[in-house]
Amino acid sequence: MNRPYTIATLGSHSALQILKGAHDEGFRTLAIANRDTERLYRSFGFIDDVIGVDSYSEFPGLVGELEKRKSIIVPHGSFVAYLSLEDHKRMTIPYFGNKAVLDWESSRELQRDWLTRANITMPRQFKSGAEIDRPVIVKLYGAGGGMGYMFIRDARDFEKRAGDLKKAYTIQEYIIGVPPYIHYFYSPLEDKLEIMSMDRRYETNVDSLGRIPANAQEGMNVSPSYVVVGNQPVSLRESMLAEALRMGEDVVRVSKEICGPKGLFGAFCIETIITPDIQFYVMEISARIVAGTNLFIDGSPYSYLNYSEPMSTGRRIARELKNALLTNNLRLVLDDTSVL
Ligand code: AMP
Ligand code: AMP
Repeated sequence: MNRPYTIATLGSHSALQILKGAHDEGFRTLAIANRDTERLYRSFGFIDDVIGVDSYSEFPGLVGELEKRKSIIVPHGSFVAYLSLEDHKRMTIPYFGNKAVLDWESSRELQRDWLTRANITMPRQFKSGAEIDRPVIVKLYGAGGGMGYMFIRDARDFEKRAGDLKKAYTIQEYIIGVPPYIHYFYSPLEDKLEIMSMDRRYETNVDSLGRIPANAQEGMNVSPSYVVVGNQPVSLRESMLAEALRMGEDVVRVSKEICGPKGLFGAFCIETIITPDIQFYVMEISARIVAGTNLFIDGSPYSYLNYSEPMSTGRRIARELKNALLTNNLRLVLDDTSVL
């Protein structure tokens, strides 16, 4: 590389993993951090440069600074949380990923259409409270990390509590099972899908309710909440891995039919719940690196099978960018709005 590219991202979520991976693959690194986190990002030797901002909404105004540094943006969960779809599409800084996927991901209806076409089973969706005939979970739109979700037992319970719902919501069948989140990486250069790692979330208070016997909970008036506070590693029963791979492959295949020929590439995550009859239900797809991959900065059991060196998802992204540069294929791994 003549003048080295800089991998840039917002200072939160999985920025440390992304920038460590970028550094290890030979890129320069940049974090855009707010006043509270600036010091944190400056404290790491693998981060070459930190730009401090008062608010992440200033990000689109930093184009000049980013261009000067020959930056490539690697987006993570905070980009979706803090920048709008329009902000994303207006950006012309080289961007790892396909922004067309964002339209399909951000609408629950389009997402359901996409996943169903990929032969994936999703929990049933209810259009109104009157239709509810089983326990459901009510999810607010745009909720950050499960905040404000409600578990509802039946239609009567819904009627009593619907008044508390201040934002738009969807009503989904509550699936009783365990929830592994599967982290994938699809390489457009190699046309190959890899399972990188898996996690389960650590959610308060739902993950503590099983610690109090049900009869002691009676009358306590606690309802489960799903606020994520961390993540735990999971390895999947090996005979279930084939289905995990199949789901990921079908999701990528269908994405090429619906989001333009590039489809979904790079890191993504399928959030599953597995029931006792070994049925995978999929709650949601995240079309980028998820924070659960932070458990595996040093690699996971699965990434070790493919790479006999530490390979986090963040590093895998940087490896793909490096391979693209070395083979003159950078455009293949960037959104089409990217101006080089
Ligand atoms: P943050 O910048 O930490 O506020 O996170 C941005 C978005 O990512 C929010 O929607 C969070 O709920 C989500 N998020 C952050 N950390 C995690 C985590 N460890 N597991 C799952 N989601 C997370
Ligand atoms: P999500 O925002 O879709 O990632 O969901 C956050 C959390 O809510 C998950 O980690 C689960 O604990 C729980 N959850 C979401 N959807 C369902 C469902 N259909 N059935 C049971 N639990 C769910």
